[in-house]
Amino acid sequence: MYKMMTPGPTMVAPSVMKARSLAFGNPDVDTDFCEQYHSLCGEIGNLLGTKNEVYILCGEGILALEAACASLTEPGDRVLVIDNGIFGKGFADFVSLYGGTPVCYTVDYHRPVDVEQLAAFLERDHDFKYATVVHCDTPSGVRNDIAAICPLLKQYGILTVVDSVAAMFGEEVKVDDWKIDIICGGSQKALSAPPGLAFVSVSQDAFAVMEHRKAPIASFYCNLLAFKDYYRNKWFPYTMSISDIYGLAEAVRLVKEDTGRVERHHKIAAAVREAVTAAGLSLYLDYGDASTVTVINVPEGLTDTAIIDTMKEKYNVLISGCFDVLAGKVIRLGHMGNNANAEDVTEMLKALSKTLKDLGFQCLCDMAVEFQRALREQ
Ligand SMILES: *Cc1c(COP(=O)(O)O)cnc(C)c1O
Repeated sequence: MYKMMTPGPTMVAPSVMKARSLAFGNPDVDTDFCEQYHSLCGEIGNLLGTKNEVYILCGEGILALEAACASLTEPGDRVLVIDNGIFGKGFADFVSLYGGTPVCYTVDYHRPVDVEQLAAFLERDHDFKYATVVHCDTPSGVRNDIAAICPLLKQYGILTVVDSVAAMFGEEVKVDDWKIDIICGGSQKALSAPPGLAFVSVSQDAFAVMEHRKAPIASFYCNLLAFKDYYRNKWFPYTMSISDIYGLAEAVRLVKEDTGRVERHHKIAAAVREAVTAAGLSLYLDYGDASTVTVINVPEGLTDTAIIDTMKEKYNVLISGCFDVLAGKVIRLGHMGNNANAEDVTEMLKALSKTLKDLGFQCLCDMAVEFQRALREQ
């Protein structure tokens, strides 16, 4: 197997794989499972700094995004879609699907949302039921300042939906302090479990809006309200993916033990940026990179596929290209969760240096050595 240094999925700890293979009971009938699910949700909530209800949903991270929009949107609702990246813009599709009117606040994809400019916009127009914003928009690697954006939106009574799928556990998250009504996460990013599960936290304000809807939620699988009384009733809307959840529980336990995690992500990301720029490569972003991924412009004369394929076939390391408006333009180095460690990142940079050399691009330095130096000197 290759070393998987993509911005999700990441490499997974053996103990997580082992937990997924344990014998399991019936998650619908056995109330012990309901207790395990409930306490795991509580632990995820603790890690995210929230007392709000947390639910694990059986589907990949996208399910959390769609469930948030399905549960909040009623036909005709105006929804503010904060768009400085591909996932940011993507929320508009979910809003439209459920009959809402997305209003895109589109700004430069090369940098984080400017909070003062957003504040000026909101002064003029704040008639929105809720707003969507992405914490780390993985295609560009930009990190938005949700600590400032969400409280600002709430000042106008606008509910906040945050896609933190590619940020949480690699970046600091404080759901309650930052007034996030629904935060969305996934199993396969910085939590480093395999893909297959999503989770959300839901505030009382968000529940109140769902409960006072005139139109029913136009989905069964994406209906967050259906989870509201699961614990009291010991009943789930559908049979839970119990083996995936056993794996998730182990991944959460590992994250909980790893107290230096956010700082380590930050240091590794900074050192990666130093190394690739010292080598003569250029970053996609002007500034505001997240700590979980580094996005690099494809050097002139090369293609993303040549870099990715050579790196995988000759050096056994998998990195990622991109899609949509960034297709073919950038390569992405993942350093989130289990992959955010000096050894794996060093090996990735060694492989990238050799690959670029094979393809005729001369790096100005040895990226692996430069990375190690930058880490030491922080
Ligand atoms: C990974 C990711 C998701 C989940 O979507 P997939 O493309 O299906 O993996 C959602 N939002 C962000 C920002 C992500 O990085």
